[in-house]
Amino acid sequence: MIVVLGAGLAGLSTALHLGGRACAVIERESEVGGLARSACQDGFCFDFAGHVLHLRDESVRALVDDLLGEDQLHVQRSAWVRCGDRLVPYPFQTNVHALPLEDRVACVAGFARTLLPRPRAPGARLSFHDWILDSFGAAFAERFFLPYNEKCLAADLTTLSADWPERAIPRPSLEEAVRGALGIADLAPVGGNATFRYPRSGGMRRLPEAMARRLPPVRKEARALRIDARRRVLELADGTALAYDALVATNPLPELIAMVSDLGQEERAAAARLRHSSLACFGFGLRGALPHERHWVYYPEKRYPFHRVSYPANIAPSMTPAGMSSLSAEVSYAPDRFPPPAGEEERVLAALIEAGEIEDAGRVVLRRRLDLPCAYVLHDEVRRAALPLLFRALRERAIFPVGRFATWSYLSMEEAILQGKEAAAHLRRGS
Ligand SMILES: Cc1cc2nc3c(=O)[nH]c(=O)nc-3n(C[C@H](O)[C@H](O)[C@H](O)COP(=O)(O)OP(=O)(O)OC[C@H]3O[C@@H](n4cnc5c(N)ncnc54)[C@H](O)[C@@H]3O)c2cc1C
Repeated sequence: MIVVLGAGLAGLSTALHLGGRACAVIERESEVGGLARSACQDGFCFDFAGHVLHLRDESVRALVDDLLGEDQLHVQRSAWVRCGDRLVPYPFQTNVHALPLEDRVACVAGFARTLLPRPRAPGARLSFHDWILDSFGAAFAERFFLPYNEKCLAADLTTLSADWPERAIPRPSLEEAVRGALGIADLAPVGGNATFRYPRSGGMRRLPEAMARRLPPVRKEARALRIDARRRVLELADGTALAYDALVATNPLPELIAMVSDLGQEERAAAARLRHSSLACFGFGLRGALPHERHWVYYPEKRYPFHRVSYPANIAPSMTPAGMSSLSAEVSYAPDRFPPPAGEEERVLAALIEAGEIEDAGRVVLRRRLDLPCAYVLHDEVRRAALPLLFRALRERAIFPVGRFATWSYLSMEEAILQGKEAAAHLRRGS
């Protein structure tokens, strides 16, 4: 028997790819989907933070087509960066034509300097802060990359490592940066994320729900408490004991390690040092339509508490009742400041009004806050040293960490699905 702990995309994908091997999926929430859930109320749907599907892998594309069929939209991205009163198209690094002339010159000149050969101490590892300066130059960094990432990750970027951003934050060529500063319109968008898929109705939760429908019933409201690794038994909060041959775990790694009965002090201490940030999405249902068709806007400036505002119904009109609109403002927090303090919703609403996102509070017909206690895992040197130790200890006990939080990695939905698929292939082979 294979037990899958967690019915997010990684856990569901594992179960889906097990090819009929006996398997039980347990989930502590009353719904499947994990981070890819949506909350719907009075006709308004909000995802747990803006989620869209960028699919590069052929097998995941085929799976999503099979699961969603016609119930998916193929959307041309409309994403922007707010700088003062201006909106710069995203990606910022190839679109600063929207900034004043002096800023454009500073951005391109600074970027050009990063292309000159620079001396490096052998083996030196850059912090994420220095990687940004090194990759884009000071002017791009100060106007967007540094303040935005500080807000989004709620962390000091000098304490983070640069072993993840290269694939997430594409670096332009000099020609692309220059053409972007001049506003030459035929520029191909950098990074391959210019289009995305999204469920036609019901929000992102449609995808995990479609996966779950292909499986034997997921055991919901079943919280895993303890893993007796010697007996290979998973104990649930309601007292149930589930015997397993292999356990696929998708819950956050520090929690997983704390659950395993026979791990030593070294593993527990290493897991306790792993860092993350938390996030709250402040959703507002609004009377009337929005005056624009944007999908989301990044807010790097410190005077706004949120780092991103997204507009669900501009992606899929079914996300609000007819004649209504909505927006969702994402605010990140260090875990010791989470959940947000009382009055935070009013502060966010006031900032949305100041930013011109909402004309006045009288337009708001619904408020819905969604909390993500664990949103961004923080890549740092502690993580780099801890992961091999922790993964080895788990695998020796037939526990396989899969997905964003169990592998403590900056993963997309597609990557979580692929990790589940790979884990299932290993288990099918009995390895
Ligand atoms: C703010 C934000 C925006 C994002 N936007 C995008 C995007 O636009 N596109 C994209 O591709 N990716 C995006 N992602 C990444 C994406 O959400 C994740 O990679 C993916 O959903 C992770 O799936 P998972 O199954 O690994 O983890 P999860 O979704 O966290 O699933 C883990 C499951 O385990 C359950 N669980 C935990 N503990 C227990 C327990 N003790 N007992 C039982 N069950 C338990 C949880 O309830 C959860 O259902 C975003 C992530 C964040 C934080």
